[in-house]
Amino acid sequence: MTPPSGEAIDHHRGNIGNDGRTGGISQPISGSACEVSTSQHPRLPLMVDIMSGPNSPLTKGFIMAQWRALPIDRLFGEHHDISDTEVQAGLHEQFREADFMWAAIDCSTKTLARTIPSKIAGRRMPPPLRSQEYPMGLPGLQGSDKERVATDNDASEFVLAELKLHHSRSGGSGRENPENSLHWSTPTEKDMWNSGDWQDTLYHACCLQGTRRKRQKIRHDIEEILCWPSMKCSTCITLRNGSQS
Ligand SMILES: [Zn+2]
Repeated sequence: MTPPSGEAIDHHRGNIGNDGRTGGISQPISGSACEVSTSQHPRLPLMVDIMSGPNSPLTKGFIMAQWRALPIDRLFGEHHDISDTEVQAGLHEQFREADFMWAAIDCSTKTLARTIPSKIAGRRMPPPLRSQEYPMGLPGLQGSDKERVATDNDASEFVLAELKLHHSRSGGSGRENPENSLHWSTPTEKDMWNSGDWQDTLYHACCLQGTRRKRQKIRHDIEEILCWPSMKCSTCITLRNGSQS
């Protein structure tokens, strides 16, 4: 198999604020955290993969398609903490040369699963931290819950601001969250929707080999995504209703 000739760009504390073309060179290890290599080919288009996950599958796909990619995930270390203003300043500079940006925004404090009672007797689900009325955090949050919501808000607001900026530079982007996530109710997200600059595309994760029929929403400014075939799974619904073995 021919190795992909695209590149993933590392960013370290030391080179944040540079143009992303400096830094140590290392080789990607298959299946490992994909925070690797430096850009030797600045003419290749650049995609930014925000909250890429440790295996960075989107990054890998874009590299195979001859792009450069910048995977970002807190799991890669402190220098990937996008709630940190110093990290944000460095990324802000690197994002200027992006052609395409994707963000899998953290939904762990925004999911409505927190409001569903546990089916396991005696097991308590973590309490909700937000609501439709208070999408930026319930009043009265304390301690680690309060801190977690504040950190999540900082990260999310940074990402949305950068996507807005990227759109104003005619760059394409998409961001993703569960369809019923309270993320979509945050004031910035509502303003962005009301601007008319963005489109929503819904899909069920099992149509893309996810294990569950998780209903996801992509908000984007990519015309081609609107042309995707429907990815709503009727099989799961049929199975759930017991009308198919
Ligand atoms: Zn399904």
